[in-house]
Amino acid sequence: MDIFKSNIKRRSARVVRIGKLYIGGKYPIAIQSMTKTITKNIDQTIEQIQRLTRAGAEIVRVAVNDHKDAQALSEIKRQIDIPLVADIHFDWTLAIEAIEAGVDKIRLNPGNIFRKAEIREICAAAKLAGIPIRVGLNSGSIGKTKNRGYALVQKAKEYLKIIEGFGFRNLVVSVKAENIFETVAAYQQIAEICDYPLHLGVTATGTYQKGLAKSYVAMGILLFQGIGDTLRISLTEQPEKEIEAARALLEAMGLRRFSPQIISCPTCGRSRVPLIKMVKRLEQQLKEQKLSKNALSSTVAMMGCVVNGPGEASCADIGLAFGKTQGLLFKKGKPLYKVLAKDAVFSLIRELTRL
Ligand code: SF4
Repeated sequence: MDIFKSNIKRRSARVVRIGKLYIGGKYPIAIQSMTKTITKNIDQTIEQIQRLTRAGAEIVRVAVNDHKDAQALSEIKRQIDIPLVADIHFDWTLAIEAIEAGVDKIRLNPGNIFRKAEIREICAAAKLAGIPIRVGLNSGSIGKTKNRGYALVQKAKEYLKIIEGFGFRNLVVSVKAENIFETVAAYQQIAEICDYPLHLGVTATGTYQKGLAKSYVAMGILLFQGIGDTLRISLTEQPEKEIEAARALLEAMGLRRFSPQIISCPTCGRSRVPLIKMVKRLEQQLKEQKLSKNALSSTVAMMGCVVNGPGEASCADIGLAFGKTQGLLFKKGKPLYKVLAKDAVFSLIRELTRL
């Protein structure tokens, strides 16, 4: 029973290919992040990308600051399994080098690469290579102005017009502000006026909890309205945290499914079992298990006492409601057998694999 399935109607964006991955249309909302290494430190960059890939990243972006970074791209690309995006600022020749190195997409910042002749050269090279360009605006791209949401969209429109003037439409767009209201307004407007896939993000969000709150609010509103084809949750944190956060958001909104949904109570003075520890263990073990499609789309409940426990546990596909030391295990609403707290995680997973 997939109670987390969403009925969000997604905006119909044109489909864009980024390496082996597609975004837009009905393709799943892709999760991406950016490395925090100096790109020319090839081993460190590859190691971080591999960590990100294991965490579930589907696209990775690296900063290309100079020619040495650009020269490192082909080797990085050779050793990774997910599409590689080059993040280019100021120097248009780095975009050309990155494209020649075989990256799968480039990101341009209209705030610092704006000369028509340079944009034309980049578009010609991207067209030849068959790769898309992300027109990636953030509040830093527009300088000081009162209505930054509006200004972001105006700047994006101007830039898109220039690129379209060169016959190039293989585009992705982002309009990130660091303020959630401006971010939401900008994406809502850009979603109305073009059909390019949108890369969602809030820029410079800050440390983990605060960044998470801003990102979830802004992206939650947009995703709920069907806006967004790929996203990055920017956090002043280790990059895997961004992936974990993005997955949790998409799962909560019923837009993607990566593991069974866990329903657990916050525990209180009525619980007599170490529920927090047990739920964390269950979550970790579920991540490590190879599960069937059925199991992946199921819900697993772990509840601390008899107040809400039996109700929640019997509504889930597999559920455990604890009494003093033992829990009653439910499967598809039917009570099956009693389980000791120490065997709880094992029993839930065993029943899940039998679904
Ligand atoms: S289910 Fe029981 S233990 Fe959990 S929060 Fe509710 S009352 Fe407390």
